[in-house]
Amino acid sequence: MAKSNGQDLPFLVAGGGIGGLVSAYALASKGFLVRVFEQAPEFKELGAGIQLGPNVFRALERIGLKADMLEEAWVPGKLQMRDALTAEEVTTVPLGEPFRARFKQPYAVTHRADIHGVYLRACQGSNLISLENSRRVDDFVDHGDSVSIRLDNGEEARGRALIGCDGMWSKVREKVVGDGKPRVSGHIAYRAVLRREDVPDDLWSPDVILWAGPKTHFVHYPLRRGTLYNLVAVFHSDRYVEGWNAEGAKDELFARFAGQRPEVLRLLERIETWRMWVLCDREPVKDWSQGRVTLLGDAAHPMLQYLAQGACMATEDAVCLAEKVAATPDDVPAAFKAYQQQRYLRTGRVQIMARVYGEFYHARGVAAELRYMALHGRTAEQSYDGMAWLYDGM
Ligand SMILES: Cc1cc2nc3c(=O)[nH]c(=O)nc-3n(C[C@H](O)[C@H](O)[C@H](O)COP(=O)(O)OP(=O)(O)OC[C@H]3O[C@@H](n4cnc5c(N)ncnc54)[C@H](O)[C@@H]3O)c2cc1C
Repeated sequence: MAKSNGQDLPFLVAGGGIGGLVSAYALASKGFLVRVFEQAPEFKELGAGIQLGPNVFRALERIGLKADMLEEAWVPGKLQMRDALTAEEVTTVPLGEPFRARFKQPYAVTHRADIHGVYLRACQGSNLISLENSRRVDDFVDHGDSVSIRLDNGEEARGRALIGCDGMWSKVREKVVGDGKPRVSGHIAYRAVLRREDVPDDLWSPDVILWAGPKTHFVHYPLRRGTLYNLVAVFHSDRYVEGWNAEGAKDELFARFAGQRPEVLRLLERIETWRMWVLCDREPVKDWSQGRVTLLGDAAHPMLQYLAQGACMATEDAVCLAEKVAATPDDVPAAFKAYQQQRYLRTGRVQIMARVYGEFYHARGVAAELRYMALHGRTAEQSYDGMAWLYDGM
């Protein structure tokens, strides 16, 4: 069992998603007490896949959770982009030995519930962390030497500092940054997870395949040691529903993918129920720490998912934050500033580049031809060099 470093007031964490739990664990592993407040009645993640770049494994190694994360994950052999109208290969990035030799870490895909589960079990195993559900953080006050929060049931809690890990629609951000609602991208993601036996053999692939079409793309890959199959279909639409779990409309989906390859349409037809995500992000900012309050994960830098990095960035944030706090435990505001300083350009770059990749995936006409020209025939080394800014980091 970890031992407390002697400071009696805990760090308060608003939100028990991926970012909140990994922050709690990273801080506890440095000896700090933590209370996590999650508004939902349980600590739980949605059923969908998530890709994990090599950069996240470097962060996980620093908090001792890499092996746990790989246990249920699937390690694909390659990332491949195909043209959704012609099935032609646009580009392939091999993920085998040369990739691991280049980045010293693997590329894996996992279930959201599995990444969340690894963090949840790690937190449950620490005597320094208290996990409290059905507790919504409604407000906070920074007293200079401590922070207090007000919960939805009127209760108050006092802590040494507050970390807002309350996601895209963060309450904590409202007071720290105050930049209004997130930007609606006009892109919608429909997602579904199938059982392996429900996927016809000729459509199953061990790899991450991305079908790039005009104003659409479709991604699929196996999950949970190959027992499940993850599908994500993204298209342009002006619908807006706040939150991450609304039911999708099949007709709209098929209208957007009309005319695409049979491999795409046959897989789309396998799905009974689609869940819908309206994709939003924000402009990058750098002032997300104020005194004893800071933000982390989507609350700090919400991004479109086109680089598959939101959860990876939240994990990197958490490791960085805990290391900065441990370096100056008696000056938490300075530690929070140092954390922000180390993170904002990296996360801002991912926010901006994710938009660019979205345009790239959805290109049509001349833009699609230029995409082909730019990517086709690249060597593995050239692809790795192109991703080094992201995958070599943290
Ligand atoms: C379609 C799609 C695909 C994606 N694919 C990838 C991928 O492949 N790889 C990757 O790394 N990332 C991916 N992401 C991004 C990733 O899912 C997010 O970046 C990540 O989940 C953010 O975690 P978080 O903890 O910061 O926020 P959230 O997951 O939003 O968690 C916030 C938590 O806070 C709680 N909460 C909110 N308000 C309050 C409050 N006031 N009080 C208490 N609790 C509160 C919520 O209930 C929730 O549990 C994808 C996202 C989407 C939409």
